[in-house]
Amino acid sequence: MRPRRVQAIVVIAALTLVLAACAASTRTAVPDDSATATADGGERETLTLSLTLYRLVDTEGASIGSARTEAEIAAIGENVREIWAQAGIDFDPLVVRTVEVSSAALLPLVVDGEVDPLFDELARVDAPDAGQINGFYLSEAFGVNGFAPTGTRVFFVVDEPTVPDERVTSHEIGHILGLRHATRDPGRLMFSGTDGTTLNQEEQDVARYFAGGILNAEN
Ligand SMILES: [Zn+2]
Repeated sequence: MRPRRVQAIVVIAALTLVLAACAASTRTAVPDDSATATADGGERETLTLSLTLYRLVDTEGASIGSARTEAEIAAIGENVREIWAQAGIDFDPLVVRTVEVSSAALLPLVVDGEVDPLFDELARVDAPDAGQINGFYLSEAFGVNGFAPTGTRVFFVVDEPTVPDERVTSHEIGHILGLRHATRDPGRLMFSGTDGTTLNQEEQDVARYFAGGILNAEN
């Protein structure tokens, strides 16, 4: 056996150990004992995060809040749960709330995605149903279907996106769970601007790692 080959085997063995360690820590982070089958025939526990979806309504009656009903948003949430089931991630409880905010808080968000005025106003409101991940629905947002401010567990979705509603919400949740845009296959959830909903194994693993981190931080 040549030295280079020995080196390669040592590296592979070390990588296997690291991967095994990650799998173990993810598992211990999860109190839920439900499980889903994986592609290789093994079982993994379902990671369950709470998700709250907010219907933003303008107190001044302007049309920049969402025109959706709570029932429509709840239906989106149920479809999102189906899409994320492929990664063994579930959203429960799934809460839908209506919150009234001023035009002054909504307008900067609609025009250029500035979230500070909204959260400044929301900070004065009780948030008993805030989820581990929180989505906000509004009429429009600077021409995009949805967005998730970096480093937050918050996302926004517009009323009439160019791709299916559940896909937009699921895609933004993907960003919150550490995923970047996919560039090759339009069938993937993280490809920008398509109706794809597939998560590859690497994306599932990354999203589960971040979901485990959220659960761990709050235990
Ligand atoms: Zn995106």
